[in-house]
Amino acid sequence: MCECGKIHLFEVEFKLAGMTVVPTHKNCGDPLNEKQADNFQKDLVKSWGFDEEE
Ligand SMILES: [Zn+2]
Repeated sequence: MCECGKIHLFEVEFKLAGMTVVPTHKNCGDPLNEKQADNFQKDLVKSWGFDEEE
């Protein structure tokens, strides 16, 4: 699992692992952990212009 502190939106790529697509950190090549994946998803949503309601 990736343990990098801060991951930029564009540093994430999606890799196929069997039947599932896993968000992976390009810089270290490791899959994002749960918290990182959660943050990434929020950043992604923001980049699309849909802000999540808290
Ligand atoms: Zn990383």
